[in-house]
Amino acid sequence: MSHIAYVNGRYLPQRLAQVHIEDRGYQFADGVYEVMCIWNGAPADYEAHIVRLNRSLNELRMASPASDGALKLIVQEIVRRNHVEKGTVYMQVNRGVAPRAHAFPGASVKPSLIVTAKHGAGPSDSVAEHGVKVISMADMRWERCDIKSVGLLPNTLAKQAAAEAKAFEAILYLPDGTVTEASASNAWMVTPDKVIVTHPTTNAILGGVTRARVLKIAKDAGYAVQERPFTLEEARKGKEVFLTGTTTFVMPVVEIDDKPIANGGPGTVALDLRQRYRTYMDSLTEAAWDA
Ligand code: PLP
Repeated sequence: MSHIAYVNGRYLPQRLAQVHIEDRGYQFADGVYEVMCIWNGAPADYEAHIVRLNRSLNELRMASPASDGALKLIVQEIVRRNHVEKGTVYMQVNRGVAPRAHAFPGASVKPSLIVTAKHGAGPSDSVAEHGVKVISMADMRWERCDIKSVGLLPNTLAKQAAAEAKAFEAILYLPDGTVTEASASNAWMVTPDKVIVTHPTTNAILGGVTRARVLKIAKDAGYAVQERPFTLEEARKGKEVFLTGTTTFVMPVVEIDDKPIANGGPGTVALDLRQRYRTYMDSLTEAAWDA
């Protein structure tokens, strides 16, 4: 089955979908994006993704390509046309098409909007049951990691290094040892006295939609939770380490740089949170489009 993409007002087979070579997303990575999970045909945390998209646009002084209502109709149509039951929707907004010049083009240049969909969401449960290995790497990104920009080269380099090391992810750290997040997911640890810790939402990390959902789930379940910086050293000595993300859900980490965390098995807190997150996903219905 051919995938259908939405590109600037048209629904097209993906192989025929094109963007202009002077689109600023292409030339300057002057664009922002969102990836949301579709589960049983319904979106996970739709509203939170749109709030973050609008925030990214605002921070970069980029106009919205469509009203929130029109965007929702486009996303719903892409899910419908691609028959997505379990999968992801990708949306990208670029500043638009203009002769190449670094400064912003005039207000008459309209942003570009691309929406696509994929089947299949998240690594299999058997991966999570065993837990994953990660590597650590210096975080060499810019000072606005809170913006979900398509400028992802440091993230792709980190993920490639992880792939070459046969690891699932690369956990990123600052010169003082603070763990910010991972290349495409948020990083968490559980202290020896069972406090769940994750970096606060500063400019140093992307405020993950899954992170916010898991924070709520953890607090509702009665866990002690702290949003504070932690170092790689603290994580290595922790009881557990895990990752969260739209395509990762909750993923236990069992090794950092080939050294086991605790006893080297997936942590009970991470597995419990994964199960609880899954319960949230399984509860999604049509009503989730308005939640
Ligand atoms: N951090 C980074 C750098 C990411 O790229 C992502 C997701 O792509 C996340 C965290 C997790 O965010 P979310 O839970 O919204 O998918």
